[in-house]
Amino acid sequence: MYDILIIGSGPAGLSAAITARARGKSVAVISNNAADSGLYRASLIGNYPGLPDISGAELSDRLVSHARAVGADLITGRVISANATKDSFGVAYGSEFESGRALILCLGATQTSIFPGEAELLGRGVSYCATCDGMLYRGKNIVVVSLAPDAPEEAEYLRGIGCHVTELKTDDITIRGDSRVRSVLADGDEIPCDGVFVLRESVAPAILLPGLESDGGYIKVDRDFSTSVPGVFAAGDCVGGALQIAKAVGEGQQAALSAATYIDRGIE
Ligand SMILES: Cc1cc2nc3c(=O)[nH]c(=O)nc-3n(C[C@H](O)[C@H](O)[C@H](O)COP(=O)(O)OP(=O)(O)OC[C@H]3O[C@@H](n4cnc5c(N)ncnc54)[C@H](O)[C@@H]3O)c2cc1C
Repeated sequence: MYDILIIGSGPAGLSAAITARARGKSVAVISNNAADSGLYRASLIGNYPGLPDISGAELSDRLVSHARAVGADLITGRVISANATKDSFGVAYGSEFESGRALILCLGATQTSIFPGEAELLGRGVSYCATCDGMLYRGKNIVVVSLAPDAPEEAEYLRGIGCHVTELKTDDITIRGDSRVRSVLADGDEIPCDGVFVLRESVAPAILLPGLESDGGYIKVDRDFSTSVPGVFAAGDCVGGALQIAKAVGEGQQAALSAATYIDRGIE
């Protein structure tokens, strides 16, 4: 088990990881590939203090190298759920799992909207993970909503294990069913199906971690960056305010200090 698990390897998450290591905590950062992030595509970051000519890709690569050099473990994967137990947290990414004593969410400006029917039918035909749930749908009709860079690979995997896959790239989706998913309404057309895999780059925070409070679409935090769930902290674009790198870096640092204090209090 790690001391601190961080979700998201943008400036907030990597800053948190560097500070957590400076406080002597073991850290894993679980994230989508940094090279797929919006920051990576920015040709010039003009306003990060001291680095006036740096590109988004170079800044991102330097942050990754720095975090690795101080001993943070960087794990590539899309986190589909997190849950709190009595004194730790579990984080599922694909079919893998990690646990930590504190959790820091640095998800970026995530998509907070979900499709009609998605929350109601989650676990009853709605899935976020092809590797975890694909075998349940062998020989059945499924819809894959492809909204993440790796979604076409996941759709191919589902075809490979014998699912009959309809792949959609639209976000005009309604999921219909009663006790189970029965169909998907996509751009006005109804597609009967037994299951739907919604493959987004990020999961709405409230679905990612039940009990997490939001305010205006952003994760609600106190001044120490603690959230409504004890032991869970959040920083960067996902908590709102100026959506800027310098702010994300500072908040990531403070969230890590608060998480370290939270852990140390538990030991006392
Ligand atoms: C094109 C562009 C240009 C910009 N230019 C500037 C600029 O000049 N100056 C400036 O200050 N800011 C700029 N910004 C904004 C800046 O990039 C953000 O404010 C900053 O990156 C926020 O950092 P963050 O760590 O909060 O989130 P992000 O950098 O968005 O990182 C979050 C990471 O978490 C990952 N993630 C989210 N959910 C999950 C999940 N469920 N599982 C796994 N991984 C997940 C995301 O894929 C992403 O990699 C720019 C942004 C863009 C898109």
